[in-house]
Amino acid sequence: MNITELARILKIPTQELRDKLPQLGFDIGQKAIKIDNRTANKIISQWHSLIKQLEIQEQKEKEKNDMEEKQIETKKEIKIPSFVTVRNFAQAAGLPVNQVLSELMKNSIFSSLNEKIDFETAAIIGADLGLEVKLDEKFDKQIDQQDRLKDLLEQEKSTDLQPRPPVIVVMGHVDHGKTKLLDAIRKTDVMAGEAGGITQHIGAYQVKRNNKIITFIDTPGHEAFTAMRSRGAKIADIAILVVAADDGVKPQTIEAFRIIEAAKIPFVVAINKIDKPEANVDKTKQELSSQLKITPEDWGGKTICALISAKQGTGIEDLLDIVLLTTDMEADKIKANPHASAVGTVIESRIDKGEGAIATVLIQNGTLKVGDSLCLHNKFYGKVRALKDYLGQNITQAIPGMPTKIIGLKIAPEVGDVLEVGIGEKTKIKKQKVSAQARIVEKSEKAEKEDNKTKKINLIIKSDVLGSGEAIEESLAKIEIPEIKINIIKKGLGNITEGDITQAEASQAQTIGFNVKIPPVVEDLARDKNVTVKLYNIIYELINDIKKQIQELIEPEIKRVDSGKVKVLAIFRTESDSQIIGGKVIKGTAEQNSLIEVMRDKQIIETGRLIKLQSGKQDVNIVEEGQECGIKYEGKPVIKEGDVLQFYKKEKVIKKI
Ligand code: GDP
Repeated sequence: MNITELARILKIPTQELRDKLPQLGFDIGQKAIKIDNRTANKIISQWHSLIKQLEIQEQKEKEKNDMEEKQIETKKEIKIPSFVTVRNFAQAAGLPVNQVLSELMKNSIFSSLNEKIDFETAAIIGADLGLEVKLDEKFDKQIDQQDRLKDLLEQEKSTDLQPRPPVIVVMGHVDHGKTKLLDAIRKTDVMAGEAGGITQHIGAYQVKRNNKIITFIDTPGHEAFTAMRSRGAKIADIAILVVAADDGVKPQTIEAFRIIEAAKIPFVVAINKIDKPEANVDKTKQELSSQLKITPEDWGGKTICALISAKQGTGIEDLLDIVLLTTDMEADKIKANPHASAVGTVIESRIDKGEGAIATVLIQNGTLKVGDSLCLHNKFYGKVRALKDYLGQNITQAIPGMPTKIIGLKIAPEVGDVLEVGIGEKTKIKKQKVSAQARIVEKSEKAEKEDNKTKKINLIIKSDVLGSGEAIEESLAKIEIPEIKINIIKKGLGNITEGDITQAEASQAQTIGFNVKIPPVVEDLARDKNVTVKLYNIIYELINDIKKQIQELIEPEIKRVDSGKVKVLAIFRTESDSQIIGGKVIKGTAEQNSLIEVMRDKQIIETGRLIKLQSGKQDVNIVEEGQECGIKYEGKPVIKEGDVLQFYKKEKVIKKI
């Protein structure tokens, strides 16, 4: 019978029949034209019941899928800070610590209860444990400080408040052009030219447009932690969400948008890379609207989407005008009291070998002056010795909305810390509270003087934010192997530079980048100088690599293991360098591949080794206590009846870290 005819009888389209038959157990092949009559009749007679069965089966599968989906939907959600100890993570997850530890182990992370894992690691482990792990910024202690800042600002009398420059943050997916846009904006500025300075990287800069000053946060590291980005958004008044027109909405676009939403600040969208032939502005707008519910103004919505090419510099001035317009609408919020005592948030922080702790602070209220004392959480952080603006020029004071580099701090604060003018309670400062980086500088100097015998792993670490640098340092400090020293020659923020490579070469260090990039020229230099550069974006991978290196450097320990004693009963044969002996195991076991000490009157008189072991004329590997054995001994033939042979082995023990 023809397939088409069978389809007609069954009243279904031929193709459907072809598709259904294999599911019903009749594999006739997609191309078959005819089907034998017996099978055809069987199909006709059983058709209805078969179809029914298939439907039931499909229904069951659907229910199963729905159930699974539901399970996925109802995945337990936990919130954790950007760094969390294994113990706290287990607690938040409601799981036994051992389960978390073994899950970490499966991912080659050998950590202890009190060791911290970063958010990314926790999210990976969490997913494996069926959890949805989310970052809870509330855990981050800086939130308290931000609240304090809010309180301070709220306490200001409205009559004392004056307009200040708006602070703008640029966010978006990696490679969508944030850095390029910040560069392009910088280039529109005349202020720098007038002042005769060259823009320095201090974490923020200012531009003048229509006689108004705008402050841009310019923190490095595109893949910076969510936490950092959220802090960025907290200090900002307005956000620019950059979306590349050739790539559209991507995961970090969504993440950035969620942070902007949470910070409740106005934003404009900059659709970038419109110069590219692949750019598709409409598609990008479509994605913004469908995925983020952002409706562009020209589509009847509220969000302004500026079309720009950061590369060619098109649309930048318009974008700045839009930013200023948005600022005007927020004018009542963008105010501060310049006469108050200063308070500001740290946007960058590092230790400079020459200048000591250096931090860039964005002044949010009051005016900071040279000579002011600064404190954090009532702790004295040092006196302002000098202030520099983003052009690297010395200034005597910094007013609200201004980023300024502070020189003179005793302790390096963390990014996101809120510094206030004040001396704090001096007595509370304890030596050990000096931040980790301050210690590192001392440590590396000391390390240089240390004897050359211990093996060293010298590192130059560059990271995107201080927090990640510290986390790396903390994890490295936990690897305590006396024979191997990890020296952090230098630690800094931002991309890997030629200076880093030169220094790495001089100090035989390897350069490690965390969430930073290496420009091609620097990469070439590293290759020329034979300097190892490794880039990471997950801390545990970095730490594990270092652990692997250490493991390779550790010399195995040789351990002697005594296995047993054999009493010599007879000497069967003696040659110039060997003897064949009969004996009895009086203690422990005699084992193949053993070394032998020949003992007479409890004194070792000679050493040699076992080359053959027999029991009842059979070659064996082991002879147990109480049994007799035949031994071929290699060594100086001094053994006599009555001697005791101590069997032992030398084992290499590789210390596991
Ligand atoms: P970020 O990771 O968001 O900071 O992105 P970058 O600013 O580093 O830019 C990523 C890449 O896109 C770089 O190679 C830039 O040169 C390129 N890029 C940025 N903006 C544009 C643009 O408007 N047009 C084109 N064609 N390329 C751009």
